[in-house]
Amino acid sequence: MARIDGVTVECVRGDITAQEDIAAVVNAANAELRPGGGVAGAIHRAAGPGLEEECRPLAPISPGEAVITGGHGLPNRYVIHTLGPVYGRDEPAAELLASCYRNALRLAEENGVESVAFPAISTGVFGYPVEEAAEVALGTVLEEAPRLGSVRLVRFVLFGEEDFEIHRRVLSRLAGEG
Ligand code: ADP
Repeated sequence: MARIDGVTVECVRGDITAQEDIAAVVNAANAELRPGGGVAGAIHRAAGPGLEEECRPLAPISPGEAVITGGHGLPNRYVIHTLGPVYGRDEPAAELLASCYRNALRLAEENGVESVAFPAISTGVFGYPVEEAAEVALGTVLEEAPRLGSVRLVRFVLFGEEDFEIHRRVLSRLAGEG
């Protein structure tokens, strides 16, 4: 856990669909904003068919872009959908991944959201090495933190124990350096 200018950045092990105290959860979406597998499958399953319906006119999106919808059956007010880069295909990968986090935070701010939960975007099917992705993800959020207004809590939700440990280590390294 780190605190930067009143913004808490934390890592937890868990499921992105079970973040009941969070206003906006981020979906590691596909370009078509369809259910699919991984995070997107879990979010759409938990939200119900209304989410896919709301997404349809907003698709397709490009790597680094983000759009916002309601939470439907999820315990969260909003879902922010962002498309991560496919590692080895969408370049420059680090800049596109950073844009995902920046654009998601911008939408959260525009909607007066206080708390946001992110999964580890691009580290599943899209093949981004976890430690590299964690450096970009946490680095971007720590860099944006002093400029945030409404957002007071940013939570990284990691599915696996190893991913959780990597994120925790990268966070303490990056926050310690600052
Ligand atoms: P991408 O297509 O952007 O790579 P994925 O959904 O395939 O996205 O995976 C992104 C990361 O989210 C992976 O590390 C995966 O293990 C993790 N993940 C999968 N399901 C969940 C979930 N329900 N909650 C949180 N993280 C999840």
